[in-house]
Amino acid sequence: MFTMSRTVLIIDDSPTVRSMVRDQLHQAGLFDHYLEAGDGEEGLEILLREQIDVVLCDLDMPGISGFELLRLMQRENSLREVPVIMLTGHDNQDEKIHGLELGASDYVTKPFDPAELLARVKVQLKIKTLQDKLRRQANTDVLTGLFNRRYLFEELEKERVRAIAGQNDLSIAILDIDHFKKINDTYGHQVGDQVLIAVAERLCLSIEKNEIVARFGGEEFVVVLPGKSSSQARDCIEKIRRATGNKPLVTSPEEVSITLSAGVATLRKGTQKSVDALVKAADEALYLAKESGRNRVEIATEESSPTTTIPRSVPLP
Ligand code: GH3
Ligand code: MG
Ligand code: MG
Repeated sequence: MFTMSRTVLIIDDSPTVRSMVRDQLHQAGLFDHYLEAGDGEEGLEILLREQIDVVLCDLDMPGISGFELLRLMQRENSLREVPVIMLTGHDNQDEKIHGLELGASDYVTKPFDPAELLARVKVQLKIKTLQDKLRRQANTDVLTGLFNRRYLFEELEKERVRAIAGQNDLSIAILDIDHFKKINDTYGHQVGDQVLIAVAERLCLSIEKNEIVARFGGEEFVVVLPGKSSSQARDCIEKIRRATGNKPLVTSPEEVSITLSAGVATLRKGTQKSVDALVKAADEALYLAKESGRNRVEIATEESSPTTTIPRSVPLP
């Protein structure tokens, strides 16, 4: 879900400078991956493609200069928080101030002192690590370690846009543990928690790499299945339901088993539907599954999921 490996991007038109910087950082073992770009354009391409933790960037470069790159990074949501350390050619005060105003985090003057370079990079890496930790906490459900509802809605909107642009299906399923209240009442809240953790683990093991599992609420989970049609999604969730149903999930202090009900809804390729409408349709299908006796998967009917082009705003949990 979240990568912990660290990547640095060194952008400079001088291969000599790039390899000197790279060697220094490498010797200190600060990063797992070292990427290089010879100009701003190549640098931007890499930034948009890879997860970069710290950028070291020359200012005077052919094509897109360091200043221009800083401007472009500020305009791009996903790049705004990536720390950039400027590699300034001369000890020019105005240049440094201008760069900092454009969003750079720090600067190192060339020819650089290796110890100073390392110290400054370490500071930025520390800040970036803390930022990542905070973001991770904001997106994660504490009990199960799954993504939380907030993150789910953000990702669902992205997947919705991607599905419409790529003319693909997008299915979601809401899964709800049957009679979970009884588990708490019979075995206690702590065992209930263990069951939730076990269901979360099972869901994570049952999905593919491009799919997402989130804790939607108390004992409800959502699985996002990009590219899966309604029947493919039903088959996938049905497999999970069968694998889970009535087999012990928690064995200590007692054996506890549960069953799952689920509702599946699909944004069919070539159609439009808001995230709200998709979730509502899955929720209605789940309600039907509960009404029809539980321990089953129901698919949303098209009537219960009207097509709409209204974009949704992300709700708070
Ligand atoms: P149904 O089959 O209709 O879904 O019945 P249910 O009992 O599963 O559903 P209901 O909504 O009545 O009860 C859900 C229960 O889940 C009530 C709540 O106390 C419990 N719950 C919610 N969050 C947690 C949690 O984090 N830990 C534990 N142990 N219980 C939780
Ligand atoms: Mg429920
Ligand atoms: Mg329930």
